[in-house]
Amino acid sequence: MAKKIINRNKEKGIQKYRFIIQILFAVLCIWIGVEFYFFIQFLETGGAAAYSTRPPGVDGFLPISSFMSFYLFLTTGIIHQAHPAGLFIFFAIVLMSIVFGKSFCSWLCPVGLLSELVGDFGEKLFKRRLKLPKFLDYPLRSLKYLMLGFLVYSVIFLMTDLALEAFLDSPYNLISDIKMYYFFANISRTSLIVIAVLFVLSIFIRNFWCRFLCPYGALLGIFSILSPNKIKRDTVSCIDCELCTKACPSFIKVDKAKTIISDECTSCMNCVDVCPVADTLELKTVTPSKNFKVTKKAVVIGVMAIFMLMTGAGMFTGNWQNNLTAEEYLFHYERMNSYGHPTGTAAMKEFNKKALMEKKLKEINQKKLNLDLQKNSGGK
Ligand code: SF4
Ligand code: SF4
Repeated sequence: MAKKIINRNKEKGIQKYRFIIQILFAVLCIWIGVEFYFFIQFLETGGAAAYSTRPPGVDGFLPISSFMSFYLFLTTGIIHQAHPAGLFIFFAIVLMSIVFGKSFCSWLCPVGLLSELVGDFGEKLFKRRLKLPKFLDYPLRSLKYLMLGFLVYSVIFLMTDLALEAFLDSPYNLISDIKMYYFFANISRTSLIVIAVLFVLSIFIRNFWCRFLCPYGALLGIFSILSPNKIKRDTVSCIDCELCTKACPSFIKVDKAKTIISDECTSCMNCVDVCPVADTLELKTVTPSKNFKVTKKAVVIGVMAIFMLMTGAGMFTGNWQNNLTAEEYLFHYERMNSYGHPTGTAAMKEFNKKALMEKKLKEINQKKLNLDLQKNSGGK
């Protein structure tokens, strides 16, 4: 067999830039956490401590509320004002997935960064990348879709439109960020054990949480299928060295595919960086007539630009900080322990009924008010 002439890949890798972006985003999240801590201090002292504004970025840590807001926006065009920043962060992440696949997971997500670092540590420890056998890997990967399915079913099929709005308006949703803070500040022993187990499992199996359990990742994986940008392998110039497959953190058999169509691909570009042959493994915009190369630089700039443009759109249109006053926060904070949310199908149905009754009551009161106004103006 004639030996292939190898045209060496001289393009510089972009993993360094990806890591810098991941670190910057993690620092931003920590900064948001610190600001939120000072806001909580203000509430805990009953308003005695200096007022510190709630950082709107904290909304990004409320994916369920953001998903509900997203659904409300899709069905009614309303931008709900309880956590508007969450909605725009959600828009940004979904758009990133549609353009560059599940790129949020490998470029921005702080949990993704932590999983990567723990996975690297595990590989150094065991001197190899461990992988679960297929008979375990496939069913476990479906767990995140089951969780996502339950959330989507609850929001879209179990809740009426009225109940959805009532939930978003509810005091529970208004202060769900504060509730989340106390979940972690007063973390239960069971939750700690679960986190510790996940941490240890991630040492053995890279990205354990992301691969098997994260419902957010599952949703982005579905959107990523729509992305026209896919990793493509030139089967003619490929020398079957398998370096791409070995480098892939998502265990995708890159060296066997012509086009990577996978809900697990995070556009991390590890495979492209390690490929030793020029123009063999590339990210390409796939169109029915022609494929266009997407340079590595374009991925770095594109991912950042989408995130900044979408979140910037939220800020410049006045849909970033919610309009709750310090007094309203103090009011809800005092009553926080009495606020809950419906759990289970029966409670959800009850919540639907309550939302309908409240709407009817409002209408009756409005009618009464209108009649009174008419009477008063008629009497004059
Ligand atoms: S296929 Fe390539 S870009 Fe996709 S996850 Fe694997 S290494 Fe990253
Ligand atoms: S890294 Fe993958 S695509 Fe590149 S030459 Fe080796 S097997 Fe082929």
